[in-house]
Amino acid sequence: MHEFALVRGLMEAVLTEAENNGIQKINIIKIVVGEMTAALPDALRFSFEILSRDTPAQDAELLIDKQALQLDCRQCRFSFPGESLNYNCPQCGSGNTEIVKGQELYIEYFEGE
Ligand SMILES: [Zn+2]
Repeated sequence: MHEFALVRGLMEAVLTEAENNGIQKINIIKIVVGEMTAALPDALRFSFEILSRDTPAQDAELLIDKQALQLDCRQCRFSFPGESLNYNCPQCGSGNTEIVKGQELYIEYFEGE
């Protein structure tokens, strides 16, 4: 389950930041998860439950913002949503495309007191 490692990395960042800002109880954590990370929300929540135990984030609400896959065509600059494994440009048919959204994994914000 790779979600566990992903959440562990995010948690470390949140807890360090909270400590630096004198936050003792975290209420909300919002994360952005790209489709390409293949991270399942249920597995993320489950990992979070385990990893937040006995930390200031213990009862925090985890908000997950899923970011859909989006590609840009290098040939004609067309921007389109990625579907399954077909990354060819629907406008010019070029396979010379790049993923511009959907690979991210980061903390958008967290709130505490
Ligand atoms: Zn194109």
